[in-house]
Amino acid sequence: MSQDRSEYSEGDLRNTGMSLKHDREWDYELDRIVDAVSERDAETVGLQFPEGLKRRAKAVTDDLREHLPDDVTVMTSGQPCYGACDLDTYLMRRTDVFVHFGHSPMKESEKIIYVPLFSNVEVTPIMEESLAELADPDEEPAVGLVTTAQHMNKFEDMREWLEERGYEVHTRRGDDRLTHEGQVLGCNYASADVDADQILYVGGGKFHPLGLAMEHPDKHVVIADPVNNVVTIADPEKFLKQRYASVHKAMDAENWGVIFCTKIGQGRWEQAQEIIENNDDAYLVTMDEVTPDRLTNFGFDAYVNTGCPRITTDDGPQFKQPMLTPGEYEIATGQKPMEELSFDTFHGTW
Ligand code: SF4
Repeated sequence: MSQDRSEYSEGDLRNTGMSLKHDREWDYELDRIVDAVSERDAETVGLQFPEGLKRRAKAVTDDLREHLPDDVTVMTSGQPCYGACDLDTYLMRRTDVFVHFGHSPMKESEKIIYVPLFSNVEVTPIMEESLAELADPDEEPAVGLVTTAQHMNKFEDMREWLEERGYEVHTRRGDDRLTHEGQVLGCNYASADVDADQILYVGGGKFHPLGLAMEHPDKHVVIADPVNNVVTIADPEKFLKQRYASVHKAMDAENWGVIFCTKIGQGRWEQAQEIIENNDDAYLVTMDEVTPDRLTNFGFDAYVNTGCPRITTDDGPQFKQPMLTPGEYEIATGQKPMEELSFDTFHGTW
């Protein structure tokens, strides 16, 4: 998700009937992988791709096989993957070289080769269009700049481009969960915490900037989407209404399933533990992938998800019972007023 759940699925428009406006070619950094295999005298190589790039596994394996000794086995993770929080630890333990494509590192490890796969889409044409939604730099020069890992290779170009047009560009590196200055994740917008009332988000999709706008309601968030070629303003109202509706529905719940996610970078044990300690009608459920099907047989009245916040917010309507974030749970159980509803963010690594 991006580095995040939604990032690649949003860029992949096969299911929307639209077509990609730009071809995207990726650099799989095969030389780095081949070198690592030879340095470590590896016999096994594990590959992990995010959902939108899984179809490339076959071609990447073919290319690697061509360059690797015949006795090296290349295998690809078939587990769903939405972020660097979501490493296939099973495959990682059983392979000599493990390659995670499509996300920047959440936590560096000698064992893992991260291949970020930067987009080659040009960002300045859409930034040009976004100027119409930003304040005139003579009146309000300060602008915050954020992007996703996918476009991080163009971040300095974006900054310079804005500065050349008279803006004062404010950026920061968020927290440990983020690799780069100006990078946002679907669960972390700490890099937008800058001294500017307007933020320019350059990246694909609407989910990131919606979370950003909810996390920073006092800021004007302009979305320059170079993948789909559109400029929009993040308006979290519809999204908030959906969250209010889920919270209201959950207020009648007599019992709760509290989901603790076992994915390496999605575990919030203390939060899950605190909920069950204080509510006898709350039951801890552990799982990796959280899907509506997997919850069907439990039959709880409502759920609290302490794993990836995007599952709750983006996929929430697909669950039969209300699925809440930990903060929303506090509202539904009367511990906090509705006005305190905010976006669920995730900090730290593991
Ligand atoms: S927990 Fe964060 S980084 Fe991981 S998939 Fe969800 S939004 Fe992306």
